[in-house]
Amino acid sequence: MEHFDILIVGGGPAGSMAAAAALKTDPSLSVAIVDPDSDNHHRIGEALLTGTIMALADADLDGVVAKAGFHHKIGAAYVWGETRDPWYVNYPRTEDDGYPEAFKDETGYRRSIHVPRNVFDPILRREVQRRGVTIIADKVRSVATHATEAGTGILSVTTDGGRKLRAKRYIDCSGHSLALARHVTERSPIGGARIARYAYTKDIDWSVATAHGFDVHRTNIVSTPSGWIWAIHLGEAGGGLTSLGFVSTPDILSKLTLENCTDAFPELAWFGFGQGYRGARTFDGEETDRFYGHPDYSFACNTLHGANWSLAGDAALFIDPILSQGVTLAVHYGFMRGKAAALELAGDQKAQDHVTMNYLREGAVLRKVVGEWYGNNRAVSDWRLGTVMVSKALFGEDLDEVAAFRWITNLENLRHDYIAYHPYPDEERVKIARALGLEKHLVTA
Ligand SMILES: Cc1cc2nc3c(=O)[nH]c(=O)nc-3n(C[C@H](O)[C@H](O)[C@H](O)COP(=O)(O)OP(=O)(O)OC[C@H]3O[C@@H](n4cnc5c(N)ncnc54)[C@H](O)[C@@H]3O)c2cc1C
Repeated sequence: MEHFDILIVGGGPAGSMAAAAALKTDPSLSVAIVDPDSDNHHRIGEALLTGTIMALADADLDGVVAKAGFHHKIGAAYVWGETRDPWYVNYPRTEDDGYPEAFKDETGYRRSIHVPRNVFDPILRREVQRRGVTIIADKVRSVATHATEAGTGILSVTTDGGRKLRAKRYIDCSGHSLALARHVTERSPIGGARIARYAYTKDIDWSVATAHGFDVHRTNIVSTPSGWIWAIHLGEAGGGLTSLGFVSTPDILSKLTLENCTDAFPELAWFGFGQGYRGARTFDGEETDRFYGHPDYSFACNTLHGANWSLAGDAALFIDPILSQGVTLAVHYGFMRGKAAALELAGDQKAQDHVTMNYLREGAVLRKVVGEWYGNNRAVSDWRLGTVMVSKALFGEDLDEVAAFRWITNLENLRHDYIAYHPYPDEERVKIARALGLEKHLVTA
């Protein structure tokens, strides 16, 4: 049996950030990440937000990421609403605001990045390893639990390689596999079923795309009657590839092929595609004759932390990726979970409560904004207006439409988690839990 203070299952963005935060909070802790991933493992989730950069800076991981030279992003282009003209989220020009200088252009405009995940994830993992985190290249196969006064606790985990690992605190960052979560809680679906199909290509005609208002330095999202399309260019760091895919209901996407996708999504003509997908490739640039598929729908786990465990990233909740928010949620709440686990070990028994309540609130905000995307495809101004109202009602911020939309959809609002580090009154907790459909699981004081 090997013993650690904190054991993190999963070394994606959530896991590395949890480890970085635990060590930053208390450098004397023994922290381990268990993950079987090789350095060249494919994962979707390539468009990062200004909120991601802010969270990386909290963990002092912005420097290593900046050095990697990822493709820069100036905002997003959306085709959605009453016209077919794109409208934009533009990152602002800011001064002395703590936003890392390495992620601003020479005139002070904020930048985010598009990243090939097989490069990005290992950069974070290697850096936390350099700082003293033990990386165990193995997969959690079984989990031993026991009943405690505080509910079901985790006793130990066993890996495929037969290693038995025990810790004072466990953090599940294993993404959709829910390696720990499935033993201590259940997950509930959110909304209707939606799946994804995608591939990579070097054959987008960017002169055509630019003429339609799209940009290699933006996350491009096109709403169509059949679902929506994303085009995310990965630049030099991504071998010149663009990630181009579709999200829709299973009845539409299960029939989608490289040949017929331009029939279901004629808007692909705006990227220079005439008949069929052009030059489909795998994430590492090999030619392919099929799409990647992502089968999962939005869900949230019914309980986000318990006796000696907590959940972060996709292992906690996954919301439709229309706003490209998954990695930002993962890095931010990974960080918050790691910090809270260290604080718990130092005697603060409420630390995870605060994180969970903020997490649920953010989940509710995102569900509302994403719901408006699907629920109202005609009045663009309403969508932005919704974010103005959320900014005011939940965070007390007076922002105009442009700033509120950026602030909410780029998850810059997550900064409030630090400011609002206090227990929520029960009535507010009930409201948040109701919005997430988790009412029956809420424990109030
Ligand atoms: C179609 C689609 C498009 C998306 N686009 C975007 C986007 O543009 N931008 C964005 O930010 N997000 C996007 N996302 C979401 C993003 O992919 C995820 O939210 C993000 O990867 C979550 O990070 P994580 O660290 O929680 O989990 P993951 O990145 O899934 O990492 C989990 C880690 O756990 C490990 N693991 C799994 N099981 C075990 C086990 N049993 N034992 C040990 N280790 C284990 C895995 O090897 C992996 O390294 C998209 C998602 C989909 C489906």
